[in-house]
Amino acid sequence: MSENAPPAAQERAIELIRSSKRVYIGTHIRPDGDALGSMLGLALALEQCGKRTAPLCAFPVPDGYRFLPAHERVSSRPPEWPADLGIVVDCDGISRLGDVQQAFAGLPHLIDIDHHATDQSFGEVSLVEPSASAAAEIVYRLLRRLGAAIDADIATCLYTGILTDTGRFSHANTSSASLAIAAELVQAGARPHRIARKLYEERSIEATHLLGLALSRLSRDHDGKVVSAILTRADFVDTGADGADTEGIIDHLRAIDGPQVALLLVETEDDHVRVSLRSDGRVDVSAIAYAFGGGGHAAAAGCTIAGGAEAAKSALLAQIHRRLSEPLPDDAA
Ligand code: AMP
Ligand code: MN
Ligand code: MN
Repeated sequence: MSENAPPAAQERAIELIRSSKRVYIGTHIRPDGDALGSMLGLALALEQCGKRTAPLCAFPVPDGYRFLPAHERVSSRPPEWPADLGIVVDCDGISRLGDVQQAFAGLPHLIDIDHHATDQSFGEVSLVEPSASAAAEIVYRLLRRLGAAIDADIATCLYTGILTDTGRFSHANTSSASLAIAAELVQAGARPHRIARKLYEERSIEATHLLGLALSRLSRDHDGKVVSAILTRADFVDTGADGADTEGIIDHLRAIDGPQVALLLVETEDDHVRVSLRSDGRVDVSAIAYAFGGGGHAAAAGCTIAGGAEAAKSALLAQIHRRLSEPLPDDAA
């Protein structure tokens, strides 16, 4: 069942948007399809309503998302003009903005649009709907209430957000609401075949080699209830792949029949490990990610841990051990 944000918060968000002229719109570091789609769809729609907007993200737009309309406008530097409103999308905490966080710090008004179960509501108005499949779904409902016209470019952005966060309409968050909104977006000009091709059928050879390495070293722990793969810095040098090329690899681990939890651990250039966690529904992985300073959803979550991948994996396995749905014979945790 869809749980919308309280009507008073929705009204207040609309009031704030109506009375604003210059809006900064921000999204999370290492942006994904929902982060970029929600931010750009909202920016384009607000511009059609006569507002000036600046889409801000601390990271560059990954190549795979450069088909999104207006992607070239995404910047990590705030413009010279000041904003009278900030809107942050798809971030479960203000710190997820990374280096663009400062641009939002002193703004007169701030709206938080998010769908993470772990959202630490921030901002004057919170439109947080954990039952929404994507932030793009909340943005869509907001734009409809605002009376904004949804053209083909805006529809392409929002459809991308829903398609990617539902895992192509396959995850547990796929609802009648997400499908109905997707249908309306197609009606408005989003092209499902073209968008799916851009997202899923233009993988580079480097990224494909990286996927091959990850799949060649799957390991199983806790009686096969956890499956994991590690990608080291050397793997990126050997394949020529970059950090954004890990996207989608976790889905192959998640697709394995049997394990309750899938883990992908990726070493970063700054001696950290970026972790993606997925669950088959029996374990709430957002709680595990949260224990390591991350967050996400019950079935898909992430965190970043300082140090090497093997140590991070041991720490994660210890946390996961206590949360597996059935007690293990050697349960010592
Ligand atoms: P990923 O594994 O990167 O696709 O992320 C899965 C989910 O977890 C997404 O909803 C992310 O927004 C969330 N997530 C990933 N990393 C973090 C983090 N460090 N802090 C909070 N949420 C995160
Ligand atoms: Mn996201
Ligand atoms: Mn999202």
